[in-house]
Amino acid sequence: MRIESAEVVVTSPGRNFTTLRIVTEDGVTGLGDATLNGRELAVASYLRDHVVPLLLDRDASRIEDTWQYLYRGAYWRRGPVTMAAVAAVDTALWDIKAKAAGMPLYQLLGGASRSGALAYGHASGRDVPELLDSIRAHLAQGYRAIRVQTGIPGLASVYGVASSTAGGGERYDYEPARRGSGPRVLPAEESWDTRAYLRHLPTVFEAVRAEFGPELPLLHDGHHRMTPIQAARLGKALEPYDLFWLEDATPGEDQAALRLIRQHTTTPLAIGEVFNHVHDYTTLLSERLIDYVRSAVTHTGGVTGMRKLLDLAAVYGIKSGMHGPTDISPVGMAAALHLDLAVHNFGIQEYMPHTADTLEVFRTSFRFEDGLLHPSDTPGLGVELDAEAAGRFPYQPAYLPVNRLADGTVHDW
Ligand SMILES: [Mg+2]
Repeated sequence: MRIESAEVVVTSPGRNFTTLRIVTEDGVTGLGDATLNGRELAVASYLRDHVVPLLLDRDASRIEDTWQYLYRGAYWRRGPVTMAAVAAVDTALWDIKAKAAGMPLYQLLGGASRSGALAYGHASGRDVPELLDSIRAHLAQGYRAIRVQTGIPGLASVYGVASSTAGGGERYDYEPARRGSGPRVLPAEESWDTRAYLRHLPTVFEAVRAEFGPELPLLHDGHHRMTPIQAARLGKALEPYDLFWLEDATPGEDQAALRLIRQHTTTPLAIGEVFNHVHDYTTLLSERLIDYVRSAVTHTGGVTGMRKLLDLAAVYGIKSGMHGPTDISPVGMAAALHLDLAVHNFGIQEYMPHTADTLEVFRTSFRFEDGLLHPSDTPGLGVELDAEAAGRFPYQPAYLPVNRLADGTVHDW
């Protein structure tokens, strides 16, 4: 199981993806997702310049040892670039091990704990009628849980709203990172008003519950824009509408902020998509300040790093809610689905279908049926990379937007 080659592939079939492909001396191929939206080339360089030379001739079967070698061996620990690079290597090695065993990865992780992973989709609208139509469309596609994002009166573009004006032709909820051409690409700038948002959002959930009744699981993402006391007030205001979770209420790195929110509301809380290590969660887990961990396999040191996080969360009765918008490549999504199927403390999986161009580059076998995702029984992850198709979509610079308040102050996006 000697590693013979490792190659970094950067491709842009509608958006940028960074992928690591490892090949063993027996010709077994493994894939790992290293996509860090808006900073893709930094991870590509970390892998090409500093990791690939270390991998050649290593034993591909030694996954934990390789994880520790890259994590402890670099001396400089954690951080999104480092942990995305470690994730790509780790995921590719799990893909190889499962292919060599002739099993889907979830079998190596202990086998299935459920028949499929409950997925939630992203419904949105500039106003309530458009939002209700979007929810109906998602229900017709089979979704059994729905994230609700809405326009705010007076604001031109709002995070997560598909038909918002800032998307530059792309569906904004699928691709908020606006691509550019020419020598210098700058992020789009948006404007934000938290007080207008806090006034408006409870009226939206009131309308959604009035239309769809009490049973449908509803989620909402605050995208790190509130102060702790604002988030506490919103959680309290949304209690009558029985949310599945309120996500990213405050900037995630301030773990203690969640204490104040928790004191004031019983609305379930989820956080962690910008985290990259179990140590980012220690206060949140040990004090039971959240209900769901939002990390992605792609940004958290791969299957090995995510398993360490989910096992600690399980000790405190906290469940998974893995990050899964389309900037997680099909490789990263497949890795998440194998964990979703295997771990006991699964909660829910975020899911947005990838574009046709993306699925031409990444040949997937996972399926979405009746609201549940399944990784399939193909040996390994169940995803293959078409190098020829990848070559037809060269990298294009793209950045997530920057947010400003009305007076020009930079705010959390
Ligand atoms: Mg989020």
